[in-house]
Order: sequence, then C-alpha cells, then structure tokens
Amino acid sequence: MAIATINPANGETLKTFAPLTAEEIQTKLARGQSAFVRYRKTKMSDRAAWLHTAADLLDKNAEEYGKIMTLEMGKPLKSAIAEAKKCALVCRYYADNAADFLKDIPSKSDGSSAFVRYQPLGIILAVMPWNFPFWQVFRFAAPALMAGNVGLLKHASNVPQCAIAIEEIISQAGFPDGAFQTLLIGASQVESVIADDRVQAATLTGSEPAGASLASIAGKHIKKTVLELGGSDPFIVLDSANIDEAVAMGTTARMLNNGQSCIAAKRFIVSEAIADEFEKKLLAKFQTLKVGDPMSEDTDIGPLATSAIRDEIATQVQKSVEMGAKVLIGGKPLAGKGNFYPPTILTEIPVESPANTEEFFGPVALFFRVKNIDEAIALANATPLGLGASVWTNDEQERDRAIEEIEAGAIFINGLVKSDPRLPFGGIKRSGYGRELSIQGIHEFVNIKTVWIK
Ligand code: NAP
Repeated sequence: MAIATINPANGETLKTFAPLTAEEIQTKLARGQSAFVRYRKTKMSDRAAWLHTAADLLDKNAEEYGKIMTLEMGKPLKSAIAEAKKCALVCRYYADNAADFLKDIPSKSDGSSAFVRYQPLGIILAVMPWNFPFWQVFRFAAPALMAGNVGLLKHASNVPQCAIAIEEIISQAGFPDGAFQTLLIGASQVESVIADDRVQAATLTGSEPAGASLASIAGKHIKKTVLELGGSDPFIVLDSANIDEAVAMGTTARMLNNGQSCIAAKRFIVSEAIADEFEKKLLAKFQTLKVGDPMSEDTDIGPLATSAIRDEIATQVQKSVEMGAKVLIGGKPLAGKGNFYPPTILTEIPVESPANTEEFFGPVALFFRVKNIDEAIALANATPLGLGASVWTNDEQERDRAIEEIEAGAIFINGLVKSDPRLPFGGIKRSGYGRELSIQGIHEFVNIKTVWIK
C-alpha cells in the first residue's frame, strides 16, 4: 500500500510519501538508541512536565489536528476534535500517575530486603491503525515515554500526516531529540525493524493477520509483543432493559467512527419479548443519521477510510443477503465519489453467512433474536474474538451471569464499551493479548526487576 493521503470523501490523492530506505531506517534506529541512553536517566518529573505540555498542545490545536484526521481517514470532524482532546486526557493521566505506578514494590523474602523495581526496556516499536489515528498512538506513547522507553511509530499507510503531526507534538512538548520518531515505512519493512537488536519489544493494533505476522517475527527474535486486534462485540438487550436508552447507545456504539471501531457494537443480540420494539426503534434511529461530508458540522457518518474497506463491507453484506439475510435499511454503497456506505441493519441472519462469522468494520448492525439469557450468552461467545461486550439488563442475576460467563476483555453493563485511560483495555481469544491504559498498560513494557539484598 502506498504511503499517501487520499481524501476518502472524494478519492483525491493529496500527497504521497516515499517510504524510508533501509539506510534511513538505520539512522532512525541509531538516533532512537542514543536517545534512550540519555532519556532513561531523565527525571520522572521532567517527563511528566513534557507530557503535560503535549496535552496542552493537543487541547489548544485540537481543531487543526482534527482536520488532518478527517482529511486522511474520513471520521466526522467533531469526532476527530474530540479524539485530539481525549489524547490530552491520556497524557495528563500518565503524567500524574506514572510515578506512583512505577514506584518500587517491597516484598517479603529470605534476604534483608527485597523489592521490585520497574525499569525501561529501550526502543519500543508501535504498529498502529488508521481508525483512531491519534488516540491509538497516544495511548501507547504516554505510558511508554513515562516509563523511560523511547518510541518508534509505524503508522498505517493512509495516515502519514497524522503520524508526522504526532511526532511534532511530542518534540514541541520538549521531549529530547529521538525520544519518539515516526517511521514512514510500509508493512513489509516492519520485519527488519523488529529484527534489529536495538528494538526491545513491539505493540500492534490492527487486524489478525498483521498481529500474527508481527508476533511470529517477534517470537523468532524473542521479543515481547502486545496485540490489540479485532472485535465482534455483542450488544445484548434483555427484557428488563431501558429500551430507549439501549437504542440510543446502541446506535452510537455501532456508528461511532463511521462504524470502524474495534469495540463497536457489531452484533445486537436481543431478547425475543422486546425484539420487535427494539428493532423498530433502532430502525427509526438509523433513519435519522446523516451521511455526508465529514468536515460538515451536522454529519453523523462520513466515508469509510479507504475504497477497499467500503468494497469489503459491501461484499460481506451482499454475500449474507444472498444466503438469506434480510436488509431493513441500507445494504448497498452510495453512488458517486467517495467511500460512502449507508447505515445498514441485517436481520434473519443465517448461521453460515459472513454476518454471523466475520467482523463487520463499517456502519452495519447485525440483528439477532434470542429466547433467553442462556441463548444470548451462547451466541455472544460463539465467535473466535473476545474484545468487549455490552449488556443491558436491570436484573441482578442476569447481570452477574453476563459478567461471569461472557468471554471478553471487558464487559459494560447498561453502557457502551469504551476506552478510558483509567481502565485496562484489551482482548482475549483472537482479539489479542496484553493490556493498554491504566496501571496494567504501563507495566507491559518495563523490566520488572527483582532486587534481593543481604
Ligand atoms: P491492518 O491492515 O492490520 O493495519 C494495521 C497496521 O498494521 C497498519 O499500520 C498496517 O500497515 C500494519 N500492517 C498490516 N499488515 C502488516 C504486517 N503483515 N506486518 C506488520 N504490519 C502490518 O488493520 P486495519 O484493517 O487497518 O484495521 C482494522 C482492524 O484493526 C480491525 O480488525 C479492528 O478491529 C482492529 N482494531 C483493533 C483495535 C483494538 O484496540 N483492539 C483498535 C483499532 C482497530 P499498512 O497500513 O502499511 O498496511
């Protein structure tokens, strides 16, 4: 894939970038390594001050950064601005809490004293996706930098200007030269970076094939990885739920980011007794959504990020319909320029169809009816993925069963699944492993050093 800014709203190629040569990659690695030797000795209070400055820049220039995101990947500008501001939150969260998260932990032992000390590892490679082009990067960078690591970013090829802007923010904030660098490289160049002795670990957010490839290369070189991969999150609504609230939140949870979120509500699993009412209200809500120019204030759904993503979702829907699924609304790409796909609801979904077996990365809600909570949980778990789950019920027993039995890295009761700097984020099964955010996130890329003294 070429490294380029292609406006998803009209297909125009605005700027292309030559990938770094092998020699240029070497120069970046050398710069990162020499930065690490000095950076690891910087005071925690200095790192926190730089991260606070980064947060201030993100807040101050949120509109400017939002426009870059919208231009490159098509999310509505208001969401892009909110994303820049959320990045400020994660910077402040780690600036304020990292010293506490990384303090020595005393332990009993047979020595005179013993404790655990957290130390940085060195260069960490982050391979990131385009869907939250700022947020995904800052939620890696803020804890990694606070822990004393240095970062190398290989961003998705369709968001190079976001990648460059992020490097600039971190540099303008005062972090030393080389502490965080963007590598404009294609996916095929990632292997040489992981293989380099100076790179200590890697994290990837993206698809299963990309995660499997990165982890196998890292495994060959005995390097730790964190993988945040896909999700096919259930959104379960049971009899005692507040239906209007569930419909409103379900719509947001499915349509956020033009439907391209790993934790989107992808499968609506609704109890039979309330299914007709829920379906009718969901349809009514979808009919109000405005698809259009992502730069415009009143747009709810912009174009999908690339034409390939639009074609993929169109094929998944078409195949499911050919196998017997019914379309309640939408169901075909919009004619004209840009990668626009309308809000869509599929019902009566056959078991073998893509709508039941694959992740749908676009504005398509998959609607399933179940008899009771047993069926709801069984269907929720009938996927190789396990990222998040949202369950709507006011029955305590149902709530406890859902928390206990649903296979996911996170469960939200009477709320949509979301990321929050204070809560760990990550999946199980084929959604990946490891955690980002919270105290768990900062402990992924540190040496947990045992110290024993007599
Ligand atoms: P993708 O194709 O896997 O791309 C993600 C990143 O990986 C890009 O930087 C890409 O570079 C790179 N990449 C692709 N193949 C690679 C390989 N073989 N080796 C090394 N790097 C490689 O993912 P996507 O289709 O853009 O993103 C959608 C997927 O990401 C969905 O499944 C979604 O659920 C998941 N996602 C998960 C989370 C989470 O937190 N769990 C968050 C967001 C998205 P190029 O752009 O150069 O190909």
